[in-house]
Amino acid sequence: MRSINWLENRFEHIYRTYFTDLEAPNQIEIKWGRRSRRQLGCIKKERPKSITDHFKKDFKTIIVINGLFKDEAIPEYVIDAVIVHEMAHYAHGFNSPLPQKYSKPHTGNVIRREFLLRGIGDLERQQQKWMKENWQKYLDEKFPNKRKPKVKYRIIWK
Ligand SMILES: [Zn+2]
Repeated sequence: MRSINWLENRFEHIYRTYFTDLEAPNQIEIKWGRRSRRQLGCIKKERPKSITDHFKKDFKTIIVINGLFKDEAIPEYVIDAVIVHEMAHYAHGFNSPLPQKYSKPHTGNVIRREFLLRGIGDLERQQQKWMKENWQKYLDEKFPNKRKPKVKYRIIWK
């Protein structure tokens, strides 16, 4: 199983390789989240501990990665692409102190454009291909839904 240390190193690597232009004005923490069939990752602000914290500009940003991705059966590039996806939100000013570039986080093709801009369009394509071809099977084997939903899984991009 992949450790938190592994995830932090992966994040460092991606940040240093693909986001060299981006100087983060606040602290970014990455962590494993709960296991999820649909949500691959998300980016959020650390919950304020007090009212004064609530108005602070130097909040911490937290990137949460699906706990199922601790499993080494999931290719590394799948997780890489999720980290890039969340960092794209960060660069666009969502849950980060940077100026917000768009009205909504997934307006148009802003995330795809970010992958292309950074020369890693292939990474996103590879990830989506793997998810399409393997994710349902993986869930059926490793994390079956006991409530047996009638609808197929749908990925929610957060
Ligand atoms: Zn998203």
